[in-house]
Amino acid sequence: MVLETYGRSTGFCIDPIEKKPLNHFLPGTPVLSFGTAGCNLGCKFCQNWDISKSREVSRISEIAAASDIAHAALQWGCRSVAFTYNDPVIWAEYALDTAKACHEIGLRTVAVTAGYLTETSRQDFFSGMDAANIDLKAFTEDFYYKLTGAHLSAVLDTIRYAVHETDCWVELTNLIIPEANDDPDELKRMMGWILDEVGCDVPVHFTAFHPDFRMRDVPATSHETLAMAYDMARQAGLNFVYVGNVHDVPRQSTYCPSCQKRIIERDWHQLGIYDLQQDRCRNCGYRLPGLFDAAPGDWGRRRQPISIRPTQSPTHESMALQVTSPTRTGPNMNREIDNPIPSLQRNQLESIHRSACHLVEAAVHNQSLDVSQELGTLADLLVAGIFVTLKRGNTLRGCCGMLGRPTRLAGALADSATRTALHDPRMAPVTATELPHLTLSISILGSPRPIGMSGDDQMRMIEIGKHGLRIRNNNNAGLLLPIVAKERVWNARQFLDAVCTKAGLPPGSWRSEETTVELFDGIDHSAPFHVTSDVTSDRIERESPVVDATTLQQLNLWVQSNLDAMLSGATPMYYATDVDDMTVAGVALQISMDSNHPTGWMHLNVKEGIPMQSSLFQLTQAAASTLKQTNGEGQGRIALAILSRLIHHGMDTDFEVQEVQPNNRAMIAMDGKRWSITFNPSLSVNDLITTTLAAEHFRAGGTMIYSALCDSTATQLAISAGPSALTHAPVRPPAVAGSFYPAKDTDREHLVDQILGELKNSEKTPITSRPVNAAMVPHAGLQYSGRISADVWRRIELPQDILIISPKHTPHGIDWAVSPHEQWNLSESSTMQGNPELARQIAESVPGMEMDAVAHQREHGIEVQLPFLHRLAPASRITAIAMSGGTVAELRTAAQSLAKLMTGLATPPLVVISSDMNHFADDSENRRRDRLALDELAALNPLGLLETCEKENISMCGKIPAAFVLLMLQAMKIECHYEEIAYATSADVSGDRSRVVGYASLLF
Ligand code: SF4
Repeated sequence: MVLETYGRSTGFCIDPIEKKPLNHFLPGTPVLSFGTAGCNLGCKFCQNWDISKSREVSRISEIAAASDIAHAALQWGCRSVAFTYNDPVIWAEYALDTAKACHEIGLRTVAVTAGYLTETSRQDFFSGMDAANIDLKAFTEDFYYKLTGAHLSAVLDTIRYAVHETDCWVELTNLIIPEANDDPDELKRMMGWILDEVGCDVPVHFTAFHPDFRMRDVPATSHETLAMAYDMARQAGLNFVYVGNVHDVPRQSTYCPSCQKRIIERDWHQLGIYDLQQDRCRNCGYRLPGLFDAAPGDWGRRRQPISIRPTQSPTHESMALQVTSPTRTGPNMNREIDNPIPSLQRNQLESIHRSACHLVEAAVHNQSLDVSQELGTLADLLVAGIFVTLKRGNTLRGCCGMLGRPTRLAGALADSATRTALHDPRMAPVTATELPHLTLSISILGSPRPIGMSGDDQMRMIEIGKHGLRIRNNNNAGLLLPIVAKERVWNARQFLDAVCTKAGLPPGSWRSEETTVELFDGIDHSAPFHVTSDVTSDRIERESPVVDATTLQQLNLWVQSNLDAMLSGATPMYYATDVDDMTVAGVALQISMDSNHPTGWMHLNVKEGIPMQSSLFQLTQAAASTLKQTNGEGQGRIALAILSRLIHHGMDTDFEVQEVQPNNRAMIAMDGKRWSITFNPSLSVNDLITTTLAAEHFRAGGTMIYSALCDSTATQLAISAGPSALTHAPVRPPAVAGSFYPAKDTDREHLVDQILGELKNSEKTPITSRPVNAAMVPHAGLQYSGRISADVWRRIELPQDILIISPKHTPHGIDWAVSPHEQWNLSESSTMQGNPELARQIAESVPGMEMDAVAHQREHGIEVQLPFLHRLAPASRITAIAMSGGTVAELRTAAQSLAKLMTGLATPPLVVISSDMNHFADDSENRRRDRLALDELAALNPLGLLETCEKENISMCGKIPAAFVLLMLQAMKIECHYEEIAYATSADVSGDRSRVVGYASLLF
């Protein structure tokens, strides 16, 4: 008897070992991690519920033999393989076979388990494991029974067994859930049991819960609770205690139990100081329990999803295992040999292109295809790299490939085409109906070689259109194909910067001596997708409903009765037993109360789909919660929709929707914060999309357009959601006191006086304050940019009202948010007045602006100005706008409206832009970029500023507020003069010139 899940996985990823979490087992090393589907527990807080609750084997899409997994781990430089994501005790046969294959080639194995297994199975299971992280989810039977469906005693037996009767290294994890298992008495009893039963050297991880699955109404664990558990455990006598899912270096580091020195420093999964010699404290020689190499690994905190291809034939065994990524380079790097780009005729490129189309088409139909025969002699051509790119119009639909050791073209093309079609981690899998609308490009690449120059001379070596680039620096690596630079019309500098950005490095780091820049040649061929004749008939056939009318009605009844149960306090039915569960792209629920606009909820996963029943259950919970708050009785009309066969049509500014049939497809728009869905068979496709986009204030140029086959109980459906504004919040408490400026009044005032005093002492001629039209100040911490800001503030005759316009650095709240606050607090005793009346006037008269306190809750761009204003003009009133995004047309319209409002005010406020300049280039490059942006500001050219920042990759965070204010001044027809008061970079304070931020203060 073989389990259906044997040899199949939900995906493979290389993680830091600290993520398991294991802190005493080969620190810093990468671990190849994978899981299957299902679980033997039913935790209501499961954070992997889409995997653990899946009833479908199809959810586990990757097939890999045990030996292929072990060899992939070895090739990627992993020291171990982890059985995780769902509990490996339910797929122990597959885990143990993989463990055997790992041990044969010297790899270790790790189990991440809830430890709920019987006495006899324990022995088998742990015989294959070198390390285990075992969940001790709580210390009451009540918790285990009610929230997991399991029993505590079996878990305690497993922990005892693993620690005392096996050689397996064991660490424990306790996920602390507010109000469920965070009672200090319970924690104390748990710690006592650990000490008594398994000893003080078993590491314990207290990790933070995030609302998930069926416990979305429970708040996340506070940092204070984690700290409390940590302190209790240390005081109780446990030697190795850690907190997880937060940043907390002191409580994530390891301390020597003998000399108390910090011997392994950690920030989340990233190692810092490492003071061990093998496994001994360098300070006192104490031997640390666990498994330690001579030196720690350097994998860092990154996660690297990978695909594993099965070994295909003995003759190609050494090259058939393709574990590749378009952006990261693996351990195959050291096997690269010089392989020039092959010389190919046009007809040969066309033949490869045609085969790539066949492979993509086969992939979207879940078929396998060998194109060796149709490629003929090209099949055995060795290529160093190949990428397949799919686009719809200008919208990327997938781009995957490999670059490394020379590989047979047929195999590399098959791997690249399949991954592009189905597994590009950035986007939804391609569907058959999209194929006729796509363009496919193939890029055939030569071996990478060092660029052979340093500094700016590197730019001379790059020929745009001919060369691709690969850049590496420590754990960061990025690659862009020659075709990308050609299409974007970049120059060499822009190309180098773009690859740095892709690698997660600051632009300009290609100049650093620590950065490796490599060139590779490439040829490409692009043409419309070649579709074979049976796709059209397949498309028509496949657009039949996924869920039939009877099933829809059963689901509707289930949702309605659950809603009634939730509203009345009765127990809902977790599953609709008469309906088969399945994975779908999304589900939507609409409730129409008699007099109101319909309210609705949607879950959509454009990449992997979601389990239908549990997702509908969650929507029902959300609906019940909303109805409870609004005193709804639940007697509104319910409509639900099951969404499948998602098609990505492009962005709001560039999309194609030819194949959409409004009679069975819904149109969906999403921009990260807002979504809307419209299903209306009576509309034309154009009206459908117009209605969908009009439902919310979507971000222009940043909104994805999808359609989905919509099986609905209603003839029409139109729901949407977006951030809702918090318009009433009298007091704005300090958010960055203690970090951007001293929290204590006396310390803050002392620092402000010190800065102002130093500026005064450096004056050659005395400065007197004067009225100005507008100003710009930086907004870093006072120790970095305070002097630059203060130099502007002290020159201005400050009026009663000050309007500060800052970029919105957080994702929260409305995009253009006006502060509704009556009062701004620096501390309990230091406050400043707001002007809610001016805020109201701005929100009412400026299109796109809304009163919203949420956007201001964590925003530092305004708050960091207050210490100076509190000192220089304590009676002034603060109004603030936090801005994120916006098109030129929207900025212009808003600026004209604000100009009109300002002109009509008897005493208009001083308008102040809060902005830093470029971020994180080296000092000289940062200064060069800043000067380009400052030249545009000096020319009072708002559009030039935006264009220059875009073209030169200048990360001036306040470019939108700055352009907005310049447009407003133009609309007010005020004659302005630019005056640059001060400029500096963070290096002027820190001395570190390798990575700086620019600061400028200006008067207009
Ligand atoms: S044991 Fe883990 S994977 Fe299984 S249901 Fe509980 S939390 Fe989810």
